[in-house]
Amino acid sequence: MSYQNPVFIPGPTNMPEVVRKACDMPTIDHRSPAFARMFQPAVAGVRRVLKMEAGEVILLPSTGTGGWEAAISNTLSPGDTVLAARFGMFSHRWIDMCQRHGLNVQIIETPWGQGAPLDQIEAALRADRSGKIKAVLATHNETATGVRSDIAGIRKAMDAADHSAQLFVDGVSSIASMPFEFSHWGVDIAVAGSQKGFMLPAGLAILGVSPKALTAMETAKLPRTFFDFRDMLNSYAAGGYPYTPAVGLISGLAKAIELLEGEGLEAVYARHHRLAEGVRRAVLAWGMSPCAASPDLYSDTITAVVVPKGCNGTDLVKLAAEKYGVAFGVGLGEVAGKVFRIGHLGMLTDVMVLAGLATAEMCMADLGWPIKLGSGVAAAQEYYRGSTGQMAMAAE
Ligand SMILES: *Cc1c(COP(=O)(O)O)cnc(C)c1O
Repeated sequence: MSYQNPVFIPGPTNMPEVVRKACDMPTIDHRSPAFARMFQPAVAGVRRVLKMEAGEVILLPSTGTGGWEAAISNTLSPGDTVLAARFGMFSHRWIDMCQRHGLNVQIIETPWGQGAPLDQIEAALRADRSGKIKAVLATHNETATGVRSDIAGIRKAMDAADHSAQLFVDGVSSIASMPFEFSHWGVDIAVAGSQKGFMLPAGLAILGVSPKALTAMETAKLPRTFFDFRDMLNSYAAGGYPYTPAVGLISGLAKAIELLEGEGLEAVYARHHRLAEGVRRAVLAWGMSPCAASPDLYSDTITAVVVPKGCNGTDLVKLAAEKYGVAFGVGLGEVAGKVFRIGHLGMLTDVMVLAGLATAEMCMADLGWPIKLGSGVAAAQEYYRGSTGQMAMAAE
């Protein structure tokens, strides 16, 4: 790796200099008013990014995976049923975690490359006359395949079935990069992590918790200690934590939100869409296609590129790292070798993405893949040239 080059993995993402500096701070007493003064703006900022009208924000020293565990262990009891579609490595891992916690997971097996199947979710909920299903789990952006699911559509399906299950959403690779509407979509728990759209180092699980989930918390019986929301909320009320918080990351989080809001959340989402669209045009110009089965499923934060027959995506990722000092993502699980992944989220500009596309092309040519150097880059250039507004982020 070269520290000069941006990374194109779907997290951790590139860090803006001002965010790194905000993380680098002297020791403070986390039981002092000084901590409360930096903590509160971070919590308020997350609330705005999630578009939460009610409920609580919880910041845990953990990662997205810990956020999944906090979501289920605070709201469910052993033997409870949850409904989840499996269509990639991340939806799979959350399901696996539920099973290991003694939950009964009703799994809707879905081809990788597809998103959450709304009609099957609605049918499963309609069939559940006795209200056995306590939660619906949804992976908003499946990072293994680059597929975005329709969370508003899941809420609609739940309402159409008149079902009272909670809705838990993994937004680890979407929140702060793609539109997210916690309250409007009727989300009960949203899970994010610090190292993706928030452009921070790994180390924080960021959760939004609805009033309904807080009610479920009171009677949930799964064991939890480190992640117990009740301890967190009691300590929050006193301006602090039940244990030592990740002070530097919380300081960085407040700064990252300041940057995002400085650019404007809508502009951030539009930038991610533009960057992604340029990547997709490059992929098509290479004669390849995204793993996502149709345009309505395209993720604006990550593209999994299906490689030509006889080629191996992992070879490209290895070569890019060894020869050019650039990081792309490998294919995971069922699509290992069949795809390589281009992360295009966080602190990125058109120019940075063009460098990534050019590097991918050099690797393809080195490996003897059937592409023409410059073809994808030119397609992205044509697109970026014709779209506007790219300078807001670059000003930082
Ligand atoms: C990265 C990611 C996770 C896991 O987060 P960690 O911070 O690595 O624990 C979960 N879900 C999705 C969709 C992700 O992209």
